[in-house]
Amino acid sequence: MTTDLWFDPTQCLVGGTWRPATSGRTLPLINPSDGSEICQIARGGAADIDAAVTAAQAALDGEWGRMPAFERGRLLTRLGRLVLDKVDELAAIEAADVGKPLTQARADALALARYCEFYGGAADKIHGETIPYLDGYTVYSLREPHGVTGHIVPWNYPMQIIGRSVGAALTMGNAAVLKPAEEACLTALAFADLAVQAGLPAGALNVVPGIGAEAGAALSAHPGIHHISFTGSVATGALVQQAAGKNVVPVTLELGGKSPQLVFDDADLDAALPFLVNAGIQNAGQTCSASSRILVQRGVYETVKSRMAEAYGALTVGPARDDLRVGPLISNRQKEIVTGFLNKGADLTIAGQGILADHTPDTGAYVRPTLFADVPADHTLARDEIFGPVQVLIPFETEEEAVRIANSTDYGLVASVWSRDGARQMRLAKKLHAGQVFINNYGAGGGVELPFGGVGKSGHGREKGFEALYGFSQLKTVAAYHG
Ligand code: NAD
Repeated sequence: MTTDLWFDPTQCLVGGTWRPATSGRTLPLINPSDGSEICQIARGGAADIDAAVTAAQAALDGEWGRMPAFERGRLLTRLGRLVLDKVDELAAIEAADVGKPLTQARADALALARYCEFYGGAADKIHGETIPYLDGYTVYSLREPHGVTGHIVPWNYPMQIIGRSVGAALTMGNAAVLKPAEEACLTALAFADLAVQAGLPAGALNVVPGIGAEAGAALSAHPGIHHISFTGSVATGALVQQAAGKNVVPVTLELGGKSPQLVFDDADLDAALPFLVNAGIQNAGQTCSASSRILVQRGVYETVKSRMAEAYGALTVGPARDDLRVGPLISNRQKEIVTGFLNKGADLTIAGQGILADHTPDTGAYVRPTLFADVPADHTLARDEIFGPVQVLIPFETEEEAVRIANSTDYGLVASVWSRDGARQMRLAKKLHAGQVFINNYGAGGGVELPFGGVGKSGHGREKGFEALYGFSQLKTVAAYHG
């Protein structure tokens, strides 16, 4: 055990009560920094999901469903305060569980508090409209919750993803059933405990840890669920959408990407360099909006290559508690996936690589951050999501070629343009296939206020910002005839 937990990690939260999985089964939770077991967690299954959905529906039919919007907002704001009070503990837990260096884990805890504050303040500011119609009518719209919302969360940013999806769902008066990832679920349980402390009525938030194919599949297929938010892989996202489709349930999918940064000859390279590298290695590259492709115009290509290579040489990798630039991957399984990709790059030129810190445990899931140069745009490493600290440099000659390469993968989550040419910035913001475009900056994961989501195989639907509040509610039109 690397960190003290103030809650019992072997329990699920169902209807305001902490209890073990119905089967009594548990799973080990592994610290990827050294392969040690942190603790056991509940292995929830279909029976627990069913109980959680029933409890959520009961909350909607009871106190939670009747609570005025401003009181929901107060609850979320109070929850944000409790998260802030526990930032250091949450960071330590996440560092042990995900392998995230402490500074990055702390940023996630602060982001979770920000989501609670942002959505807490927004709860009573979402209005319907009056709609001009025929003589003798008054027509207006109401924003109503979907009902019971399902949230399937991955292991890479548990706190941020819970904040943006569960936070927005609760704000709009939904009752949530959260299935965190089996690899990392401690901060989900911590958040649920703080929600209880904040006074959230029983059943408004339920948490059932467990394996994807068991608890996750049961949640996706449950007929009592009215909306599902999923973040994770394309393959699993498609399964979730299929299962939800059988019940005609709307789904928000956030499935990752191969996000490019486009660096033009006129770019401010001093400003760009930290973003170019950090957006690829943050959270060991296990970020859906990681920038894994760096497209560079010929005139500055060699300069960018050598400066990025130098930055890579200074990247040290080690245990999360040492708070270096890069921690381990989530698991040895993920290490195998990333190593497989590195092997597929055997025909390519390695421009720069990070180093393993002394005394890095060989039982941890470490890989050296790697920068490949002169990578053909159709190479596997330039097209497929790797989900590790690996970036490719791709040279281009013209703006048209840069746009063609940028838009040539199946994904479209984030893109950025580094150029001082204002007309080019505006042109490319429109031409790039992505849910978010950054100009002279890059925002992997940041921006509680900024709507976020993808096009193509990056998914559909938007979370974060006010847009999430529309996604986690449905519009009812009321047409009253009064003559
Ligand atoms: P995954 O998509 O299988 O898991 C994500 C979540 O879905 C977890 O909570 C998991 O328990 C759940 N899940 C798994 N199978 C399910 C099913 N049949 N029904 C319902 N829920 C299910 O991802 P993974 O296996 O942990 O990682 C594999 C790859 O996915 C990674 O290498 C990476 O490329 C990608 N990934 C992307 C993101 C992202 O933020 N976009 C996050 C994690 C992983």
